[in-house]
Amino acid sequence: MRILIFSLLYGLLTLGGGSWPQRFLPNHRQPAVEQPAPTPDTLTLMFIGDVMSHGPQVDAARLPDGTYDYAPCYRFLTPYIASADLCIANMEVPLAGAPYTGYPQFSCPDNMMSQLFEAGVDVFLTANNHTCDKGAKGIRRTIQVMDSLGIPHTGTWLDSTDYRQRNPLIIDKNGFRIAVLNYTYGTNGIPAPNPFMVNLLDSVNIFNDIATARVTDADYIIVMPHWGIEYERHQNKAQAGYARYMYECGANMVIGGHPHVVQPITLENRDEQGVAQRVTAYSLGNFVSNQRKRYTDGGIIVKCTIVRDTTGTIRVTDYEYLPYWVYKGVCQGKYQYHILPAKHAVENCAQYNVHGADSVALNLFYKDTKELIDSVPESKFDFTSTTR
Ligand SMILES: [Zn+2]
Repeated sequence: MRILIFSLLYGLLTLGGGSWPQRFLPNHRQPAVEQPAPTPDTLTLMFIGDVMSHGPQVDAARLPDGTYDYAPCYRFLTPYIASADLCIANMEVPLAGAPYTGYPQFSCPDNMMSQLFEAGVDVFLTANNHTCDKGAKGIRRTIQVMDSLGIPHTGTWLDSTDYRQRNPLIIDKNGFRIAVLNYTYGTNGIPAPNPFMVNLLDSVNIFNDIATARVTDADYIIVMPHWGIEYERHQNKAQAGYARYMYECGANMVIGGHPHVVQPITLENRDEQGVAQRVTAYSLGNFVSNQRKRYTDGGIIVKCTIVRDTTGTIRVTDYEYLPYWVYKGVCQGKYQYHILPAKHAVENCAQYNVHGADSVALNLFYKDTKELIDSVPESKFDFTSTTR
């Protein structure tokens, strides 16, 4: 019956000179439409360094009603952060609840993290030397706060079951399956409450995690170690050795943190176009902190673009870095911290209210960083709209 009705309808339309809706045409009648070549999948990756919370920063963020506001701190970089498809930051301070404490054993207000998430950070790392500052409670609460907001994170887990279920972290985005692995060299002498709660920098862990990521069909593996020597402006042999090992195990990109200062970015395995396929950033520096000494009062954001071409090969096609400087200024009788795009701030000091000794420090930071990072182009992002 269905065939009869189909034939009748087809006959009527043909006789009447009408056209058959294209979606009803039998397959062999499909007109030869030239299909456009598949668009390659593209993903922009962004990496942000160590989010620190010293006591004066907590005081600066506190509002008269007892809540905490970090919007002034992040506002100038927000358009840049939002420009990435996938942005990853190291949350160096546990969200252990009140009372909030600074150095040496931190706990910071949840808003410091959640407002950074609202600004465009998609994933937080939690394995670092301050992970155990507030013991198991601090680790668990950090995870629970992020989980309650639906924020992906990696580096620490609630227990062995959680570890087995959620390590490695896989992010599905723009057609890619990105694995994010995070390790710390140690926890400041405070032992992890149990070995499954904190991911330690260890060659067996790295080997196993990368193998697991491959088995779960991850197609790009980013390893983010917390490592190196504080205040050293160059990577040491241990970092270089670990990076080499990570690539040998199958990592695609290595982005590190911890030294509180920026360390070099190395580019290796260049393709025919001269684009490096191994981008290693040894330390991005502090994203925000109360540290004011030379080299510690700013850092860099690294942004890379990866593309899956029509043959299925994933390639790095572009990379850049953005130097930023942390301004600690007085606003209405109390301190405020503003993270400023360094180049734009150097060129527009007055708009950012940066004067005198602050201007000198900003210029010095920018010069130091430009001299150190000579391998990768500086971002040309237009910050005109972000100034007051
Ligand atoms: Zn650290």
